Amino acid sequence: MVVQCCLCKKVRNGKQWVLADPIELADVRISHGYCPACAAQAFAEIRALIGVSRLTSNVAASP
Ligand SMILES: [Zn+2]
Repeated sequence: MVVQCCLCKKVRNGKQWVLADPIELADVRISHGYCPACAAQAFAEIRALIGVSRLTSNVAASP
């Protein structure tokens, strides 16, 4: 199974996130998530929306 970022469409390859050819993904199960860059952006937006940056700052520090 492959994890694909639902925002930038990169797929996880070990510790790297790379752009994949859609044809290569045709035969594999894809689980959608966020790559680290998009996760950071998404968390920032969520924090801005709910205004609890004080509570989530420790969680976002994990790699
Ligand atoms: Zn991404």
